[in-house]
Amino acid sequence: MLTPPETEPLTPEDRTLMGPGPSEVHPRVLRVMSAPLVGHLDDSFIEIMNEVQDLLRYVFQTENQWAIPVSGTGSAAMEAAFANVVEPGDTVLVPTNGYFGGRMASMAERAGGEVAYVDAPWGEPLKPAVVEDAFHQHDPDIFGFVHAETSTGALQPNVPELTDIAHEHGAYVIADSVTSLGGVEFRVDEWDIDVAYSGAQKCLSCPPGASPLTLNDRTMEKVLNRDTEVRSWYLDLSLLEGYWGDDRSYHHTAPITNIYALREALQLVAEEGLEARWERHEAMATQLKQGLEALGLELNPEDEYWLPSLNAVRIPDGIDESALLSDMQADHNLEVASGLGDLEGEIIRIGCMGYSARTSNIELVLYALEDALR
Ligand code: PLP
Repeated sequence: MLTPPETEPLTPEDRTLMGPGPSEVHPRVLRVMSAPLVGHLDDSFIEIMNEVQDLLRYVFQTENQWAIPVSGTGSAAMEAAFANVVEPGDTVLVPTNGYFGGRMASMAERAGGEVAYVDAPWGEPLKPAVVEDAFHQHDPDIFGFVHAETSTGALQPNVPELTDIAHEHGAYVIADSVTSLGGVEFRVDEWDIDVAYSGAQKCLSCPPGASPLTLNDRTMEKVLNRDTEVRSWYLDLSLLEGYWGDDRSYHHTAPITNIYALREALQLVAEEGLEARWERHEAMATQLKQGLEALGLELNPEDEYWLPSLNAVRIPDGIDESALLSDMQADHNLEVASGLGDLEGEIIRIGCMGYSARTSNIELVLYALEDALR
């Protein structure tokens, strides 16, 4: 008989979360997470599923029939997108300007796709002319791009120009909106995006675990008429259709508590109003930016591509980034994050997302940063 380990009841740290995610969870979301479970096929839960789907359509600004929370974190929704849309032999064009374009490439390859790249430096968005050239060179079937690149703090502007190029070439567009959905303007239908996915733990201020995904009918037609089975059973949308479509029949046990949480987080977006929420994120991030400038610090991306939900700040010469971050955590119980990939050691990343995007948190970040730099 193994003896039990000597653990105590759990008391997690209560930090101020101002990194690249998770953001702080709204108290109303925490409250619904302590509600009792119902079964995943209970009539009352089916009603909650319907509401989640309607709220997802609102937050994505889409009339797509297909709008579901994928069980798992943002990467699960991302993998559901790539694993279903990419068929063996499809050419998939992905960007090289950040960490998550690399993850797209890896998922597209595992789905049997041939990966081609469209380039921009880390910290800069894709330029439409460069995307057009890449289309001429590679003739891709699918084009993936990251709307809000969490690793660099750069926003991808000109989305309708990019989707136009893709559609003129007959390709499908997959957009990563993990760090923009519910915080930065993002419009699936108006911008003619075929597939979009996101995460719960960024601008929606919900714990990770049920992740938004939407696909239009044109793309679902491709998915439902594949020559080969999707390589993942769990994420196969033709099977998930049984649960999230009209039948509401068992596929897997939905993460009930995460669905409650997402339902409440989306409800909070609806109550605030999407446009008001975008404005709040911009206003809060502007306060942060002005405070950073007053400390003599600079954001890494140009103003044109500034991403309010994720502020990438250049580290001044001679400052040890890891000491800076650990001082901020030790002295102020505050989480901000280091750079990733090509920008590791050059930037720190300060999130301004969802419930975390409020004046008291911005003031704490600026105060802690000033203190740590002293
Ligand atoms: N895409 C982007 C832009 C992200 O920032 C992240 C996570 O930070 C992901 C995808 C993957 O999401 P997750 O870590 O929730 O699996």
